[in-house]
Amino acid sequence: MVRTRFAPSPTGYMHLGNLRSALYTFLYARHNGGRFILRIEDTDQARYVEGATDVIYRTLKDIGMDWDEGPDVGGEFGPYVQSARKDMYLPYAEQLVREGKAYYCFCTKEELDERREAAAARGETFKYDKHCLNMPKEEVERRIAAGEPYVIRQNVPTEGEAGFDDVIYGHITVDCAELDDMILIKADGMPTYNFANVIDDHTMGITHVMRGNEYLASTPKYNLLYDAFGWEKPTYIHMTPIMRDAQHKLSKRDGDAYYEDFLAKGYLKEAIVNYVALLGWNPGDEREFFTMDELIAAFGVEGMSKSPAIFDVQKLTWMNAEYIRRLSPEAFTAHALPYYEKAGVAKMDLSILARILQQRTEVFTQLPDMVDFLAKLDEDYSVELFTNKKSKTNPEVSKAVLEMVIPALKALPEWTEEAVHTLLLSMAAEQGMKNGTLLWPVRIAMAGRQVTPGGAIEIAVLLGREEALRRLELGLKKLS
Ligand code: GLU
Repeated sequence: MVRTRFAPSPTGYMHLGNLRSALYTFLYARHNGGRFILRIEDTDQARYVEGATDVIYRTLKDIGMDWDEGPDVGGEFGPYVQSARKDMYLPYAEQLVREGKAYYCFCTKEELDERREAAAARGETFKYDKHCLNMPKEEVERRIAAGEPYVIRQNVPTEGEAGFDDVIYGHITVDCAELDDMILIKADGMPTYNFANVIDDHTMGITHVMRGNEYLASTPKYNLLYDAFGWEKPTYIHMTPIMRDAQHKLSKRDGDAYYEDFLAKGYLKEAIVNYVALLGWNPGDEREFFTMDELIAAFGVEGMSKSPAIFDVQKLTWMNAEYIRRLSPEAFTAHALPYYEKAGVAKMDLSILARILQQRTEVFTQLPDMVDFLAKLDEDYSVELFTNKKSKTNPEVSKAVLEMVIPALKALPEWTEEAVHTLLLSMAAEQGMKNGTLLWPVRIAMAGRQVTPGGAIEIAVLLGREEALRRLELGLKKLS
């Protein structure tokens, strides 16, 4: 049975890179009828950010990536938060010490700094020199009993190669001579991240380790630990990075690459997930739009890219616009409402607003700028706006149109789209005028600008009789 895990460190908001790791890990488990496990890796308390675990839960739930085992839902391999597992790791390290595969190290920070400086002076990079490896057992015991601080280090072979097969990157090897005897247990008794990660993956029965390629270089060391314990290794699937451009990785420092920031900027979560899914994976055909269920059905490592993906916000925006167009008008309105409120148009006819706005909205944050003229007319607009070649209008023609239209609109018994429509178009017909010649000045006077979502009739109804007439009269005054 496939068992995958998403193992975030709670160090801040959910970055799109984390989101993609979570998504691929989730999709792989679901596609293969396996289990998706959530593990919180909080061994590094110094980097812990308050509230960060809540963001992780909230984001995964919001997107519909339900986990089968995890901190809140439990499971037979719990606990699922590393800090709650802290007593599990030391016995494993001690087992390795007994077998000569790890050892106690009493070197102090000062001693290590001194040796590091000396190495630098010789132009070498320092790696731990196995100084404490061969300390006699009695001395080790005496120093521990005396309460001297110690760490436990992995005893890495000094020659030969350590390697592993990665599904994406192929066979990766490192020269053991380059590997450091990494610390497994720190002086405070806590495991290092590197050690805890291996122990957890094994004891949780993880079969497929999927994560960012920044762990590629450490994985040979992890595999030496699997070998030391005689454990079966998981399948490794390291993902290529997401880049901001050809040279730079999309980093947390880019600030704008957080999932929740995109929501706040008016992107739909379905569009974000769809876009992120395609950053480093493709279905092998031309399809671009996927629901979560379709992603589950289509996902596989064969489609995962071997080269970095470039994050293209324009492509995401295009995809978002497509998702917005596919919403029902009611769903569009539900998403748009907070922006209508901001713009002061939330009390207007919502179905007309949806009709004129939905097709042209790329991200919801554009809405206030698109509709602010409805809430408040910029009365200083120029009469030049009344000139339009195609509609055959200019200030003079416009003045005549408004003089004719205003009394007729005032006398209209009902202020509905149908009534306004019938009145204005029959007037144009009676006058032998192009519809555009009549509608242009009406729209300009009501909007104070040339580009508007919706036409004169829709705008008149959105504004209501009183405000529409007030604006038309103001327009006439400007033209007189
Ligand atoms: N906790 C690690 C991180 O957030 C994940 C490492 C892994 O998946 O093995 O980067």
